[in-house]
Amino acid sequence: MDPKTLIAALAAEHTLPDDGFLALLTADEADGVDALLFAEADRVRREVYGIDVYLRGLIEFTNVCKNNCFYCGIRRDNRNVSRYRLTEEEILSCCAEGFSLGYRTFVLQGGEDPFYTDEKLVTIVSEIRKRFPSCAITLSVGEKSRASYQAYFDAGADRYLLRHETADGDHYAKLHPASMSLENRKRCLFDLKEIGYQVGAGMMIGSPYQTTENLLHDLRFLEELGPHMIGIGPYLTHRDTPFRDMPNGSLSMTLRLIAILRLMFPRALIPATTALGTIHPKGREMGLRAGANVIMPNLSPKDVRKKYELYENKICTGEEAAECRVCLDRRVEAAGYRVVCSRGDAK
Ligand code: SAH
Repeated sequence: MDPKTLIAALAAEHTLPDDGFLALLTADEADGVDALLFAEADRVRREVYGIDVYLRGLIEFTNVCKNNCFYCGIRRDNRNVSRYRLTEEEILSCCAEGFSLGYRTFVLQGGEDPFYTDEKLVTIVSEIRKRFPSCAITLSVGEKSRASYQAYFDAGADRYLLRHETADGDHYAKLHPASMSLENRKRCLFDLKEIGYQVGAGMMIGSPYQTTENLLHDLRFLEELGPHMIGIGPYLTHRDTPFRDMPNGSLSMTLRLIAILRLMFPRALIPATTALGTIHPKGREMGLRAGANVIMPNLSPKDVRKKYELYENKICTGEEAAECRVCLDRRVEAAGYRVVCSRGDAK
């Protein structure tokens, strides 16, 4: 089948047979696939969400991590990281500043830091819930027991971001130490869904050793999970990791996958990620035009931003939250969309 027929079939059926997905993923850009794919994705996105772009205020509250993921700059064995932890008061003041700037979703993201016990996290979540009842609270703190997830949920957390990273067990083992497993990652995602969280999964594009078949597995896994949010971005290398000599993922492949995901999941919340904005100065705008409808600006205190370095050259590490907000409004508008200040739940 030619790309045009495949794209039409994907838009109509929201899925393709394996050979269809593989053909689309490997199609030559010279055939105009991407222009067509992005146009279809944008059409579907406008049908469901209009030109609205939702903001999520990202608070990177700790860069301490007990895990040792081979791709990640804040992995445990990286001795060159200056580690930090935000206090409850600091986290709350990030939320307060975010609220005054119009943010109605706060994402608390961090390494897997045992300092933040369930008790501490529950206290923090409850306090945010009490002070900002109209806001959504999203956690992104890695793999936990079902009981822990339940406790955060009961304290008032509504959403959870946990990328599956890759849905292929062998590939998973090439990206993570033996202490981690795809099986547990998946268990977490299904637990989160059953508890009632709005769940976000996703993968890096162009991570080391990734094949087109791996990406096909990712798409099938996402179909099985049915997440509310799907976060993808290019893999970007970091000098202090075992993958220091591996090439970055590609902008065009990431954009192609955003568009495919929009056609598969018309109602999904898909961010134009910071990694996308890092690999190209207009990456996030391109992401929006390929079907993304969420942006996650940084609300972390300025003095810690450079320390949450998952990959090199991360953007927006030198700005204040208020500056980011103004800059984003402009960028989103220039791309043809509009920032809306709401919780931005999935439709
Ligand atoms: N500890 C949390 C948060 C991880 S950081 C958790 O385990 O979920 C959030 C995401 O950043 C990761 O899920 C990963 O997909 C992405 N990331 C990490 N290192 C990266 C790199 N070098 N390039 C691109 N993305 C990266």
